[in-house]
Amino acid sequence: MPDSILDDISHRRYNQLRGSWVLVSPHRTKRPWQGQQESPTKTTLPAYDPKCYLCPGNKRAQGDVNPKYEKTFVFVNDYSAVKDEQAEYKPENKDGSLASRLLRAESVTGKCYVITFSPSHNLTLADLEVAQIVPVINTWTHLYSAHLSPNSPLAKLNKAITNGGLNENIAKPNAQYRYMQIFENKGAAMGCSNPHPHGQVWTTTSLPEEPSMELKQLKKYRCEHGGANLLEDYAQLESSKKERVVFENDSFLALCPWWAVWPFEVMIVSKKHKRALVDFDDKEREELAEAIAEVTRRYDNLFETQFPYSMGLHQAPLEGTDEEIEASHFHIHFYPPLLRSATVRKFLVGYELLAEPQRDITPEQAAARLRDCAGPLYRKALN
Ligand SMILES: [Zn+2]
Ligand SMILES: [Zn+2]
Repeated sequence: MPDSILDDISHRRYNQLRGSWVLVSPHRTKRPWQGQQESPTKTTLPAYDPKCYLCPGNKRAQGDVNPKYEKTFVFVNDYSAVKDEQAEYKPENKDGSLASRLLRAESVTGKCYVITFSPSHNLTLADLEVAQIVPVINTWTHLYSAHLSPNSPLAKLNKAITNGGLNENIAKPNAQYRYMQIFENKGAAMGCSNPHPHGQVWTTTSLPEEPSMELKQLKKYRCEHGGANLLEDYAQLESSKKERVVFENDSFLALCPWWAVWPFEVMIVSKKHKRALVDFDDKEREELAEAIAEVTRRYDNLFETQFPYSMGLHQAPLEGTDEEIEASHFHIHFYPPLLRSATVRKFLVGYELLAEPQRDITPEQAAARLRDCAGPLYRKALN
């Protein structure tokens, strides 16, 4: 093991994907820890909650009634963070003034959607079978495809997908948006307000910070390495080294990245260069569903709890230059806050806010723990 000295000494690791650093202090995991023993969490939620605004047939806050859907359900968020229509912003253009130099703003319009993962109020991604996660991926693919710029090389790839789950109220927006962020906040620890398993989709006229930083790095790598793809190279390297791999199938690799910040951070990355959801065929969508099932189930098994996280897809912008779209590489981030048990979490505070992120347990140790959490979902034996 050539890197084993790094198991004992503090060091910094470079995040090639963001162009940022993380401080790793593995010697601190040797501190004695009196962790409380917590009993495994059971599912106490009902399959249907008459008060839930996401359950089939129920009324939402603004009065709309959900259909009696059978797979997934998509609707425009009743409390969207961005709107598709708003007053125009015209910055005062006083050239040379301090205000025009320092108080910069730009308007952002967009559309926010909510997507339920299944009609069941109490089935998370970890509870769902692979075949039940496929419709979620199909719905993401439909939504992405419906918002693609007609000028994008990806727009020609609208492969037929059955079981899309899209309902009529998803009209194509009037404006062309630049980027679509698909994500899930799971658990009260991550600020999720409704326990009915669901994700969100925000589309905006702007390219947000995280994907923008990554795109810069991806383009730079291509340019410096004769058109090579950073994440394709990285997946190949990790697949051969194995020490950070959690799960692998033909098309995807789930791993604790070399540069992970959160204790049990995971990235699912396409092994081949795939720019976006629309690049996948049926087999690949099924294998993506399998990778998501493997990661979420292992997470819950780790501390025998409903493991909270923020999860999100990164892929090609809806509208961009050919170079931006070609440099994009489909991957999913899972950022979970838990550290040692169902209640002991990591906070990004102090040094992390003011200097740079820091972690104790190494990504190699985290990957080994998650590899050991394979097998059936712990709570299936409890309920
Ligand atoms: Zn519900
Ligand atoms: Zn990313």
